[in-house]
Order: sequence, then C-alpha cells, then structure tokens
Amino acid sequence: MRYYEFKITVADNARDALTQKVMDIGCPGVVEEDGRIIAYFDECLAIKTISDELASFDTVLKNAGLDSSLHFEYCLLPDTDWNETWKKSFTPIDAGAFTILPPWEKEDSHRLNLIIDPGMAFGTGHHETTRRCLMIIERFSGDCGKDCFLDIGTGTGVLAIAASRSGYSHVIGVDTDHLAIDAAHRNVALNSLGNIEIKAGTIDDVEGTFDFIIANLISETLITIAPQIAGRLKPSGIAALSGMLSGQEDEVITAIGRAGLVVIETFFDGKWVSVVAKKQANAQL
Ligand code: SAH
Repeated sequence: MRYYEFKITVADNARDALTQKVMDIGCPGVVEEDGRIIAYFDECLAIKTISDELASFDTVLKNAGLDSSLHFEYCLLPDTDWNETWKKSFTPIDAGAFTILPPWEKEDSHRLNLIIDPGMAFGTGHHETTRRCLMIIERFSGDCGKDCFLDIGTGTGVLAIAASRSGYSHVIGVDTDHLAIDAAHRNVALNSLGNIEIKAGTIDDVEGTFDFIIANLISETLITIAPQIAGRLKPSGIAALSGMLSGQEDEVITAIGRAGLVVIETFFDGKWVSVVAKKQANAQL
C-alpha cells in the first residue's frame, strides 16, 4: 500500500481545525514538523479529491474570517518507505514521569510507560497540551483522593491510561467521536489495564463523582461544561482544563470560578494554556 504525504502550512489559529479536517478526509494520523502539518493519505483516495477538499476548506476558513494562509505540497511515498516513515514519526516521547511510546518500541522499566497506537485519534503526546496534562496528572494526583478519575475527550485514551498507571482505582474516559472510542479501547487493551472504562458521549453520559477530572478540549466547550465538571468533583477534588489558546484563559477561569472552583495554577506552553483548579474541602456535593 502506498501513501500520499501532504505537507500543509496553515496559520496557527486554523491548525486544530485543519487537523480535524484531514482526519475527516481519511488521514489516519498527522504529525507536526517545523510548524507544518504532515498528513498521510492512502493512495486509493483520489489525489484530486484530497486537493479539492483542502482548497474548499481554505475557503471555509476564509469565510469564517480566518486568514488561514493554507498552502500544501504533496508526494507519493514509495511503498518501501511507508512503514519507516510512519514509525519514525512516532518515536517515544517523555512527559514528566511518563513515556508515551508506540507498540513497536521497547518499554523502559524505569518509566511509567503509556503504549499508544497512533490510530485515528488525537493524543499521541506529540502535542503540548497532552504532555502538559500528563505532567499535571503527575504533579497534582498527590493532592486528592485516588478513587475515581474522569478524562473528558479521551482521544487515544492517553490521559486515562496515565491515570490508571498513576494508581487511580477506577478511571473513565469519555469521547463524542466513535473513532476515538475505538482507538481508546485498543490502547487500553495494549496496556493491559483492567480498571479503565471507555464510554461514548459527554460528561452528561457519565455517572458518579470524581477525585480528579481532566478535559483537554477547546475553550468554548470548557466554558460550557465548567458547571458540570464542578458538580462532578468530590470535595478537595482537582480539575484540570487544557486546550485553550492564550488569550482565552480569562473566560475559562471566570467560568471555573462561577462554578465554584478555586484556580490553583495556570500553565503557559507557547500558545497553549492549562488551568488547574480545586474544589474546596467543605464544598457541598
Ligand atoms: N485527551 C486526549 C485527546 C484530546 S483531543 C489528549 O489530551 O491528548 C479532544 C477529544 O475530545 C477529541 O477526541 C474529541 O472527539 C473529544 N471531544 C470534543 N468535545 C467533547 C465533549 N463535549 N465531550 C467529550 N468529548 C469531546
């Protein structure tokens, strides 16, 4: 099987939308390299279809008021190169005590290994927000109970798997995308973890209360679900909200405060912001 490799340049504010778009077109995985998005497509997808989809997406972005500056070049990778090209893109990556590695790499027994098969879902650790979330799990898990952990927008399941490796007794990962659900199920099995439940849907489809809730989503969604997150936290529970762009954090922080949580730390990673908040010990459930 041969693959087209597309190297796509796009303005920062359109990068996430583009990643979603190339996956919708049928790209099984993207990599970021030198500020560009590298996307692979099976050669059975007509090259014209892919190019047309990208061109019309540029128009969609422009109509939405974004100066997307979308440009791309592509080539057909020779058959023999494919596996190596793909594998080279998914090298092990460290975040705090965790190492995210694809199934074909050897585990390091001194690290908390998270085996992630990069399928059609977000969360290979090659994104700053995923790595920041992992470091937040490591740093703040000592400050709350270790009973129940909720990962909203689990993607590949990487954060849920990290929570299980960190000692939470029961972990739930929820996602609205069925491709993410499939990928998360596969990854949970790859890591041989029996205490992770993967569910389709949103926080409203999950029952119970949690010691730690993490959500790596866009800011609009974080603002919308802030009250539900606060409502599902146990007293002294920790909430980590990530995925907002710098400049959007004030609105998210306001929403978290209105929902009754106290912000304890904010992290800035380039253009990305993550906020950690706590529910007071005497808060009503
Ligand atoms: N947790 C992973 C993946 C984050 S990508 C990581 O940190 O790397 C965000 C994921 O959230 C996507 O898989 C998307 O399908 C899902 N998602 C978006 N809105 C959601 C919502 N309201 N409820 C649950 N999942 C959602």
